[in-house]
Amino acid sequence: MTRNVLIIPGDGIGIEVMAEARRIVEWLNAHRGTAITLTEGEMGTEVWRRTGVPMSDETIEAAKSADAVLFGAVGGDEIIPRPIRRARGLLALRRAMGLYANLRPVKAYEALLDATSLKERVARGVDLVVLRELSSGVYFGEPRFTETLPSGKRRAVDTQVYTEEEIERIARDAFLLARTRRGQVASVEKSNVMETGRLWRDVVTALHAAEFQDVALRHVLSDNFAMQIIRDPRQFDVVVTDNLFGDLLSDASAMIAGSLGMLPSASLGTADASGRRPALYEPVHGSAPDIAGKGIANPIAAILSVAMMLRHSFGLTADAELVEKAVEAALDGGARTADLYVQGGIQPVTTAGMTKAIMEK
Ligand code: ATP
Ligand code: MG
Repeated sequence: MTRNVLIIPGDGIGIEVMAEARRIVEWLNAHRGTAITLTEGEMGTEVWRRTGVPMSDETIEAAKSADAVLFGAVGGDEIIPRPIRRARGLLALRRAMGLYANLRPVKAYEALLDATSLKERVARGVDLVVLRELSSGVYFGEPRFTETLPSGKRRAVDTQVYTEEEIERIARDAFLLARTRRGQVASVEKSNVMETGRLWRDVVTALHAAEFQDVALRHVLSDNFAMQIIRDPRQFDVVVTDNLFGDLLSDASAMIAGSLGMLPSASLGTADASGRRPALYEPVHGSAPDIAGKGIANPIAAILSVAMMLRHSFGLTADAELVEKAVEAALDGGARTADLYVQGGIQPVTTAGMTKAIMEK
């Protein structure tokens, strides 16, 4: 069995951290027989400058036919005009691949407790996943427009829409994911004031009763969740929520880990008849133009994205754990890139140095 993976480094530190992800994949191929074939795809600011679009049809087709996509980050100093980005950017790629579920694991590493924003009192032991609905909600609902009223003042409208099917498929993913973890789901909405929130709660409750009574389900209002994630994040295992709340709350949850450079993510679509599920794995961080080219970016988010790919796309759980444990061991051994808190006396390592420390473990 060969596993075909399209790797799209993109721009800025996306290029630097994906080079490290590639080294990890090559090591796994050599030592663990993972049989992953990497093909490179072009996307980003440089491609846009050369061709007028940031992503070619070939890249889109390659992403659709690959078993998984590893994505770095796009975005440069020059901003690509919004209509072009909408048509040919990351959003377009997600749409073409039918990705609707965004998974963001958050883990507090013992060795990094000093670097976390919450300090060890609340951070120690945190291990949760935020599952954000990605394809619908207020970011896509119609109508959306800005109009000028007779008074000369403007009025803007966005619309939040969710169908029962959209809620049910993300809720099912949450329950299935919880079964592989600690068996707990927190469903986050605002059912006390929003129609979509009421439907969300209804559908999640019904699915739970029908198919997932072995999983513990809690409903949490979004404002309460914002408070709880800071008060005691250890109480959460799988958190499932809509597109807008997921955007906000996954960023808030993310900082428990200490740095954007630590956080991997997965975006998943619907499995086809042969069971193949479209999937894109990427670090949560962007292209970070401020540190690009300096060789100091933290490659851990990219390397943990490889681990997520091994687990979710290929069922290679032991290999995924090997990578995750090596990351933890490298941190325990004192390896720190500059974005992680550097204690007096410890010299930060470079991007390549961090990968080396991980590979040695
Ligand atoms: P985007 O718009 O693509 O989400 P952003 O504006 O949120 O990007 P990022 O590129 O994610 O910004 O980076 C925010 C800051 O965090 C950067 O300026 C950089 O200093 C830091 N940062 C992000 N990722 C890393 C990393 N892997 N290693 C070290 N520092 C990082
Ligand atoms: Mg950002």
